[in-house]
Amino acid sequence: MKIILLGCPGAGKGTQAQFICEKLNIPFISTGDMLRSAIKAKTELGLKVKKIIDDGYLVPDDIMIDLLKHRISAPDCQRGFLLDGFPRTLPQAEALRNANIPIDYVITIQVHDDIVVKRLTGRRVHPASGRAYHIEFNPPKVSDKDDETGEPLIHRDDDKEDVIRNRLRVYHNQTQPLIKYYENLHLKNIKDAPKFFKIDGEKSIEEIKEKIFKILNVDS
Ligand code: ADP
Ligand code: ADP
Repeated sequence: MKIILLGCPGAGKGTQAQFICEKLNIPFISTGDMLRSAIKAKTELGLKVKKIIDDGYLVPDDIMIDLLKHRISAPDCQRGFLLDGFPRTLPQAEALRNANIPIDYVITIQVHDDIVVKRLTGRRVHPASGRAYHIEFNPPKVSDKDDETGEPLIHRDDDKEDVIRNRLRVYHNQTQPLIKYYENLHLKNIKDAPKFFKIDGEKSIEEIKEKIFKILNVDS
């Protein structure tokens, strides 16, 4: 099963991705997590992208396309994968189609901008796994500690209000057009077009999970 989760920053993609990947036993591929690990490890890529990410802009397409193609050619992706944060531009979406890796589902999670700011300023993440919590809406069992490992949670540098607003601007300009792109592929019944669904992301985490499991035809 190959799945793309679309949606603005803070829509709840990572939160739902964890449930789906666990259920279907497929790898969770978050390009944001991959870039943050590169920054932490101070690799050449990490040094190149740090400022772009801190300011809330997008990393150039050629870098992202190479990174993603390399990741999905790994053996663990043979049985499928879930993409969170890729594609984010039309050239990235086209590159994925041209790579002849048919995607089964594109699921868009929709949330208004004002809700996103509240979600992201209160988001805390476990960097090693990508697990996301919220100080109010989805708190960890022990404050500031990951439920599974007990390791400390962090507040991402780009989850500050001014950067969030910029990320939302970038989302509306560069990523939102992908919704129409996938909707069109689906409606026109183009060969290998993914099935396309839109979901209300302002419901509870549990309700959204149930909707997605229904779409994917798996038991919750
Ligand atoms: P994304 O991966 O789309 O950027 P996340 O899954 O990290 O979004 O969620 C952003 C923040 O909102 C996190 O703090 C998360 O705990 C919280 N969150 C996710 N889904 C919901 C929801 N349905 N209702 C309230 N808060 C949510
Ligand atoms: P969120 O889900 O909260 O939007 P991500 O973790 O997906 O954040 O991404 C964090 C940052 O990493 C983005 O703001 C962007 O700078 C960079 N990034 C991640 N994926 C891509 C991509 N596919 N194309 C370009 N930049 C990306």
